[in-house]
Amino acid sequence: MNKLQEARNQVLQQIEQACQLAGRLQQSVELLAVSKTHPAEMLREMYTTGQRSFGENYLQEALEKIEALADLEIEWHFIGHVQRNKTKHLASNFAWVHGVDRLIIAERLSAQRDVSQQPLNICLQVNIDDQDSKDGCAPDEVAELVRQISLLPNLKLRGLMVIPAPNNTQAFFDARQLFEQVKAEHAHPEDWDTLSMGMSGDMVDAIAAGSTMVRVGTALFGARDYSK
Ligand SMILES: *Cc1c(COP(=O)(O)O)cnc(C)c1O
Repeated sequence: MNKLQEARNQVLQQIEQACQLAGRLQQSVELLAVSKTHPAEMLREMYTTGQRSFGENYLQEALEKIEALADLEIEWHFIGHVQRNKTKHLASNFAWVHGVDRLIIAERLSAQRDVSQQPLNICLQVNIDDQDSKDGCAPDEVAELVRQISLLPNLKLRGLMVIPAPNNTQAFFDARQLFEQVKAEHAHPEDWDTLSMGMSGDMVDAIAAGSTMVRVGTALFGARDYSK
């Protein structure tokens, strides 16, 4: 068995165990493979293990990989900070954008999404533990943003995305509570099904709190080298 297959099996096993502990079904948690900094050929190899959804943070790098891997049926997720002048490329090339935290960004993504495509899946990024210099809207802005973004035509608002400070397990439970609160007030609760939280180091805690999508890089691909 090759290294990537082994790494993915281990991560899937960790997810399964975390689900068992939490009394949840394994299928209730999706594994998003975070592939930033890794070359397209490594993603191609990961694809052969059965992985279909990949997350990227940097637009230019992502666009190159999307082109190089156009022959594969990959579901591309953008998980980086969304800059206002980059929305056009995100709207046309990705299936999901996780880092939406302002109405203007959602409005642009909706306007720039081609009507021939499926609606663009969106997660609202929340600064759940009030970190300085962090992306994400404030928890008390979520209800109003959900109301406004839900009205936009070419988007499907799926849920929340959080990146709490390391070891802040409570933040995962706060995110879950906010997620459930919004669902109860939501005009289309059936669309509101995604709580994107948990990375290599904290996916077990995130699943215990109710994560439905873990974004895992290092545990799948190894350490990242930013020097290149
Ligand atoms: C890089 C990144 C990840 C993956 O982190 P690992 O610790 O390598 O698993 C997850 N989410 C976001 C938003 C990231 O930028």
